[in-house]
Amino acid sequence: MFFVGGESNVRDYYDVVVIGGGPGGMSAALYAGRAGLSCIVIEGNSTGGQMNEADVIENYPGIEEIKGPVLGEKMRRHAEKFGAQFHTATVVDVDFSGQMKRTILDDGKIISSEVVIISTGASHRKLNVPGEMEFSGKGVSYCATCDGHFFKGKKVALVGGGDTAMTEALYLANLVREVLVIHRRDKLRATKVLQERAFSKPNIKFVWDSIVREIRGNEKVEKVVVENKRTGEKTELEVSGLFIAIGIVPNSEIFRGKLHLDSQGYVVTDENMETNVRGVYAVGDVRSKGLRQIVTAAAEGAVAASHAAETYFG
Ligand code: NAP
Repeated sequence: MFFVGGESNVRDYYDVVVIGGGPGGMSAALYAGRAGLSCIVIEGNSTGGQMNEADVIENYPGIEEIKGPVLGEKMRRHAEKFGAQFHTATVVDVDFSGQMKRTILDDGKIISSEVVIISTGASHRKLNVPGEMEFSGKGVSYCATCDGHFFKGKKVALVGGGDTAMTEALYLANLVREVLVIHRRDKLRATKVLQERAFSKPNIKFVWDSIVREIRGNEKVEKVVVENKRTGEKTELEVSGLFIAIGIVPNSEIFRGKLHLDSQGYVVTDENMETNVRGVYAVGDVRSKGLRQIVTAAAEGAVAASHAAETYFG
């Protein structure tokens, strides 16, 4: 189940239902609208999906630097300009068994459509260690741009070694006294440019070959217990917060048993972004693929909507 924004006047039928309002979904809506199709985007409580959590986006071609929420808002307005409607609701079930697909919302609405484009994205992966749930919102966070300001001048830890982890560490380094990056190997997965930036920041320190075993505190996070994988030694790090940036898991549970998913739960598609069910497409981070970026999600949305327009409404 996931949250997906908007206005009432939802009709019973649209040519295209887009589930999820991230860059893939909004691009699909833009292309569907330009193809003359009626389209509704069922979106979350805020526009833009994961872009909302990005302080700065600097790898979308043609836009050297932009705030994530600003790009999200621009994409929404662009889709609306071509007729796409937006509605805030949670999709609780889908029925892809017939030619007419049905999308069932938590507000009781059931929308029929010839085509469904799934762009439900992905959520933060959990560490699953003692203290993670207990201290969530009390020092444990999955979003530096959302919560970093609570830790101004303090010492925090951050776990992960990918692009998200380095982007978050760099953001935090400008706010907090010190960032301890805890990584389970001795090499980062993040792209070179982000690694180099992180290594050059004097207040970003690295705790290599280490895994988080426990998060401790009273009212709030006070200590993170890490274990060195090589020596087995356990150390308590005294920090005010722990940011968790260890990857993503696809928001695909409601499609299980209805669509072909890969071993990690991502939706499998062909090169037109169509799933094993005709008329049902998947785009963006929820799709089984290599590179998960705003630019790839947007491109996939365009491919899916254009293929759907030609194939089912041509
Ligand atoms: P990711 O690339 O999958 O990296 C996850 C990191 O967390 C890896 O370093 C991994 O360690 C570590 N990890 C995974 N499970 C763990 C666990 N249970 N305990 C400890 N560490 C764990 O995920 P991501 O950084 O969120 O990025 C997701 C996608 O979004 C990627 O395709 C990325 O390129 C993209 N992205 C791009 C940008 C950008 O271009 N600026 C920014 C953010 C995200 P190992 O390295 O040992 O596997």
